[in-house]
Amino acid sequence: MSNMNLATHKTKVIYSDNYLVALNDELANSKVLLVTSDSFKRRGIVKNVIEHCGDAHFIVFDKVTPNPELTDLQHWINELKSGSITQVVALGGGSVIDTAKVMAYMLANLDVELKTSLQQSSIAKTPSLPLIAIPTTSGTGSEVTPFATVWDSAAQKKFSLANVAPTVAILDAHLTLSLPRQETLYPALDALSHALESLWNKNRTVQSQEHAIQAIEGICEALPQILENAQNLTARKTLQQAATLAGLAISHTKTAIAHAISYPLTIKYGMPHGLACSFTLVAIMHELGYEKLNLSIDLVDTILELLVGLDLDKEIVKFIDWQTLVEQFDPNLDPSRADNFVIPINSDWLIGIINKSQQSKTIGELHEA
Ligand SMILES: [Zn+2]
Repeated sequence: MSNMNLATHKTKVIYSDNYLVALNDELANSKVLLVTSDSFKRRGIVKNVIEHCGDAHFIVFDKVTPNPELTDLQHWINELKSGSITQVVALGGGSVIDTAKVMAYMLANLDVELKTSLQQSSIAKTPSLPLIAIPTTSGTGSEVTPFATVWDSAAQKKFSLANVAPTVAILDAHLTLSLPRQETLYPALDALSHALESLWNKNRTVQSQEHAIQAIEGICEALPQILENAQNLTARKTLQQAATLAGLAISHTKTAIAHAISYPLTIKYGMPHGLACSFTLVAIMHELGYEKLNLSIDLVDTILELLVGLDLDKEIVKFIDWQTLVEQFDPNLDPSRADNFVIPINSDWLIGIINKSQQSKTIGELHEA
């Protein structure tokens, strides 16, 4: 595929069959911070980037961990401050891209404290350094969204820094071919959750709905094919594009109830984001009523078939048993996400969703019968 602008969103989206060529084209002759994770360094990918993009001077940062922590980020930024960095490249999954977004903002605003900035308004008011995002998973949509999620596990809190969208996103599905099952499945479920969350959302627009429906169709088509054959490049491309479209959809609407439910579960039980924000989807669809989603019955059935077939209730118990999950569930959710949901809800409704999520199979089958 050739270069193509996907939408009016401010991130320029480039499809490429060789991310190294695309990256070299987009790099300024500058001092580049390459944000990645240790595994890409070990696999020789970092070396390839540096060799292929010879005109740039790279500083490699490879300490990114899942769910980036506020204190780590501030510490790392202090270390990088004196580097005269002029451009940032993120090569990795959602946590790498979120880390790079925070760094690109902070390195352009050297007198700002991250914690103060997150607590005050969470909206970056001044520009970031130019950021090129190269996603290596298909799901978070972070390559096009204006948000970065920052965790403070000591305070059991989650922040969101807004207005930090990457300048350019380079999509090369070859980078996703070697992903193992779980690193394919959980991000794909995150993307499906983004698409649905943007549909049952007070902020939805005609364009966000179009993006969401295209994303859902792509995920439902491609994910089963990839789970069957991980090397299916065509399906990998479809899933990658779908995840980016879902990212564009939530860029307009933000997420809603399923994500609001997920954050405490990730903080308390270490539940992976893509699982935590998707195990409730069948119950929420059921509870909300399918007609409120503005989806065709066929597409609703396809979504249910996909989700029910994945047995997510059995994945949940790897992190927490259902009884404890229900007993410890705190219905005071982050209003900046929960309040985007299209109908008013209360604690009984929420606990009902958690309970019903254990029986997603029965609910899904009831509808099909
Ligand atoms: Zn998400």
